[in-house]
Amino acid sequence: MGNLTGKVALVTGGSRGIGAAIVRRLAKEGAAVAFTYVSAPDKAEALAADIVTGGGNARAYRADGADPAALRAAIDQAAVDLGRLDILVNNAGIYVGGPFEEVTLEDYDRTMAINVRAVFVASQAAARHMGEGSRIISIGSNLGERVPAPGMTLYAMSKSALTAFTQGLARDLGARGITVNLVQPGSTDTDMNPADGSRAEGQRARMAIQRYGDASNIASIVAWLASEEGRFANGAAFTVDGGANA
Ligand code: NDP
Repeated sequence: MGNLTGKVALVTGGSRGIGAAIVRRLAKEGAAVAFTYVSAPDKAEALAADIVTGGGNARAYRADGADPAALRAAIDQAAVDLGRLDILVNNAGIYVGGPFEEVTLEDYDRTMAINVRAVFVASQAAARHMGEGSRIISIGSNLGERVPAPGMTLYAMSKSALTAFTQGLARDLGARGITVNLVQPGSTDTDMNPADGSRAEGQRARMAIQRYGDASNIASIVAWLASEEGRFANGAAFTVDGGANA
C-alpha cells in the first residue's frame, strides 16, 4: 500500500516533463490521479493508459490553463469522476525569454495567465472540494528567487508571484487543515529545458552539482509534501536545483 492510497490528486500540465513524472509518482503511491493537458492528447492518453495498465488510476482532461472556465470545469469534473479531491499540483507553466525590449504584451499576458492566474483559479476551484489534510503544491522556479542572467525577467516575475501566493493561501486555508507549499526546481531535463539544449551549458556552470535534475527528482519532493510525512511543511518554498541558487 502506498503513502497516498485512497487520495485523489489533480496535476495541471501532466502530459509531459515534470508534470508527467509527478502523475506517475503520485499514482505509484496509490493516489487516483487526474491531470490536465492542452496540446498533446496522444501523450496524455498514453500516460493515463500506461498507469491504468499498471494497476493504477489516472485520467486526462483537456483544459488550457489560460482559460479559467475550462480549468474550473476540469477540476470540478475530476472531483466528480474520482469522487473527491485531496491534492492539487499546480505544475503547468510556460517559459518565454529573450531581450527585455522585445518581450510583447501578448507574451506578458500569456505568461501571467498560465504561470500565475491559472494557479489562483485552480487553487480556488480545488479548495472548494478539499477537506482536512488536503494539499496544494505549486511548481515555481529557482528563477523566482534569484535571476542569474539577462533575458528571463518576465518568467522570473511570474514565478516569484507564487511565493506570496503560497504564504497567503497557507494562512487562508490553514484553519481548514489544508497545507500550501511551493517547489522551486532548477534546471530539469524536459522539453522546456533539455539537458542538451543551447542554454544548458551556462545553466550547468551555475550549479554546485553540475548536472541537470531529472523530472523524478521534483516528483519525489512533491510526493513527500503530499504525504502524511509532509504534514508540518506549510507556506514554505523548497528549492531543488542542484545548488544553483546556493
Ligand atoms: P514542459 O514544457 O516540458 O511541459 C509542460 C507541461 O505543461 C505539459 O504537460 C503541457 O501540456 C502543460 N501545459 C503547458 N501549457 C499549458 C496550458 N496552457 N494549459 C495546460 N497545460 C499546459 O515543461 P516542464 O515539465 O519543464 O515544466 C513544468 C513546470 O516546471 C513549469 O511550471 C515550469 O515553469 C517549471 N520549471 C521547469 C524547469 C525546467 O528546467 N524544466 C525549471 C524550473 C521550473 P501539453 O503536453 O498538452 O502541451
